[in-house]
Amino acid sequence: MLYRVIVDVSSGALDRFFDYSSTFQVPLGSRVKIPFGNRIIEGYVIEEIEKTDYKTKDIISILDPYPIILPEMLHLSKFLTDKNLRYIDCLRLCIPSKLRAGTVRELVKNFISLNTEIDLESYKELFSKTTRTQSYITLLDRLIENGAFENVLVKEGFSQSTIKTLISKGILNKTREEIRRLPRCIVPQTKNITLTQDQCVAIDSILNSSGTFLLHGVTGSGKTEIYMTIINKMLSIGKTAIMLVPEISLTPQMLGVFRDRFGDDVSVLHSGLSAGERYDEWRRLRLGLAKVALGARSAIFAPIENIGAIIIDEEHEGSYTSETNPRYFTSEIASFRAKYNDAKLILGSATPSIDSYLKAVRGEYTLVTLKTRINDRKMPKMEIVDMRIELRNGNVSLFSKSLLLALDDTLQAKNQAMIFINRRGYASFIRCRSCGYVAMCSDCDVSLTYHREEERLKCHYCGKQFHALTRCPVCGFEGLKEGSVGTEKVVAELNRIFPTARILRMDNDTTLTKDAYLEILSSFAAGEADILVGTQMIAKGHDFKNVTLVGILDADQSLYFSDYMCNERTFQLITQVAGRAGREHKEGRVIMQTYNPKHYVFRFASNYDYCGFFDKESNSREVTKFPPYSQMVRILIAGKDENDAIIETRDIYTKIKEIKANCNGRMIRSQAMRAPIKRVENNYRFQIVLLLIPNSDIVLQEIYKCAVSATNKVSVFIELNPRQLF
Ligand code: ADP
Ligand code: ZN
Repeated sequence: MLYRVIVDVSSGALDRFFDYSSTFQVPLGSRVKIPFGNRIIEGYVIEEIEKTDYKTKDIISILDPYPIILPEMLHLSKFLTDKNLRYIDCLRLCIPSKLRAGTVRELVKNFISLNTEIDLESYKELFSKTTRTQSYITLLDRLIENGAFENVLVKEGFSQSTIKTLISKGILNKTREEIRRLPRCIVPQTKNITLTQDQCVAIDSILNSSGTFLLHGVTGSGKTEIYMTIINKMLSIGKTAIMLVPEISLTPQMLGVFRDRFGDDVSVLHSGLSAGERYDEWRRLRLGLAKVALGARSAIFAPIENIGAIIIDEEHEGSYTSETNPRYFTSEIASFRAKYNDAKLILGSATPSIDSYLKAVRGEYTLVTLKTRINDRKMPKMEIVDMRIELRNGNVSLFSKSLLLALDDTLQAKNQAMIFINRRGYASFIRCRSCGYVAMCSDCDVSLTYHREEERLKCHYCGKQFHALTRCPVCGFEGLKEGSVGTEKVVAELNRIFPTARILRMDNDTTLTKDAYLEILSSFAAGEADILVGTQMIAKGHDFKNVTLVGILDADQSLYFSDYMCNERTFQLITQVAGRAGREHKEGRVIMQTYNPKHYVFRFASNYDYCGFFDKESNSREVTKFPPYSQMVRILIAGKDENDAIIETRDIYTKIKEIKANCNGRMIRSQAMRAPIKRVENNYRFQIVLLLIPNSDIVLQEIYKCAVSATNKVSVFIELNPRQLF
């Protein structure tokens, strides 16, 4: 038999197939051991072939008891290679990384149990006759009370020989059983839910037609119930489902709700699990023991067949696009899998992306709308505070008067508050008041952020850390000023103003360890803190019933990134954070601080006017020809040597101009320049930004082909519709 195999080596040159012969049948998608050059490596069997032009070697062995790549995923990988991804990288996305190297296995333990077919009492009587066998009786009593693992018994002081003897006499049974390493979740309060009229209408319209649906429902409109009802329906007709949430930090809450509903039918997949948990959850899905895959973006590669529904919650979130290689768009993969399985694809959001909403307006997606919160609960009232006026009135603190009063009220009433600030650390830069020196990263052209708890300056781009400064290294002046504030400083200030309030902080720095976010969220949900301060991590999805106040500090912050999506992002962020308030019986209130209160983003956001915002934003994109009215491509060129990077940029740009001249006007704009952040990790960065008219796949292919590095001194990355340029 002859097979085509891809070798598990990540190198551009090797991303191709090799032919192998085999003396035994190999199912497609199997992981196999193969000779390669003078090494023995792993590979995946892609297809069976009739003949080959090469002299082939034999496949040595099959590594797993079942093919670990599903046929669908072989097709998906092929599809993704057309999108500029490597075939092997695609396959690797489909399996837990530790499984590949064979460094993770099932957790199997030896169990000891009593043989129920014997007359235990007569044995006990027999053993009680001599002191030598006293320990036998103790062990039997221990097992009658609570059965056990062998290693637990040994730990408790029972000897191996006692255990062995009783097994050999047939009094005890020894079994080997697999232990499932179960990811933790936040256990929800049990609720008795009768679907509302609006929910039923939405569910019916989704179940009664096919294709892609955009579920536009305000925050707290009960979208999760809709998702679960649809999934339930799919399970009842023997199908499976994938449910995606935008961030790992949202999985424990959703997992709790899903386990409550679907029990062991649900498995969770995301990169925050331990290798063992990930392996067990993945295998349960692959073997059909679980039918619902829940997780962050990587769960879109869940190894399940016969999918009935794929749900992407908070579909507008940027986290659905992977930022590191291999770069993929979750929605593109979801769309592929939905078509392949003839499944429903449901995109849900309170603030759909302009791109998706435009597709719904054009009829490419079916729009399903939920206009009100469950039980007609009111949207929290949003108040805009002009921080310039505060300043004029002599308030130089981080908090407006009205936010302080509201915080005080909230604390008095024993309710909870969330304070949102989109910057971690204590201060985003440190500047000398005398000479104007700003502390910068040695490897990147960005200012360092001061982290007070650790007394360190950190670079948020490359992670490098430096000693905190007490005086200016240039002029020696001791009056260093802290620039714009971050989460850490907000907590410090709140502690000073409300000394008895219990405050939690959630950002990248406080969630480094596994399950850290779960602990912070559970503790806040359990009422063990009064105020939760955080970055955009706290903005999404969370459902805390006692939160009555949301404060947004520096709402403008995200407006000042100079890219076409910043208005959209700011609108989404504000609406999402605001949506955390007043979700149960207590009414909510939102206070938004800004230096730019007249901006249309704040006007529409404060009235929860998504459609108004969409019209305005979509219009301006149409005029300026930005996505979704075009496709943006950014080619990023980075190299240690500035000159090499410039030469490479010029070369690629020359080829791009050729493509532009021959593409019938499909390329609207092209521009080469320095990247907004000129240097990261000691690499000089340049970019070529292109706008293509939509559906210019052929031009895109040509761009992919020419935008490759000619030398290995420079790296070239291509991003399609990047959400942020830096
Ligand atoms: P969304 O995702 O739209 O923001 P959720 O799905 O989190 O909203 O629902 C908001 C709250 O309303 C949750 O606490 C949920 O349990 C509750 N809920 C949903 N549907 C119903 C219903 N039909 N009756 C009562 N409560 C409901
Ligand atoms: Zn740096």
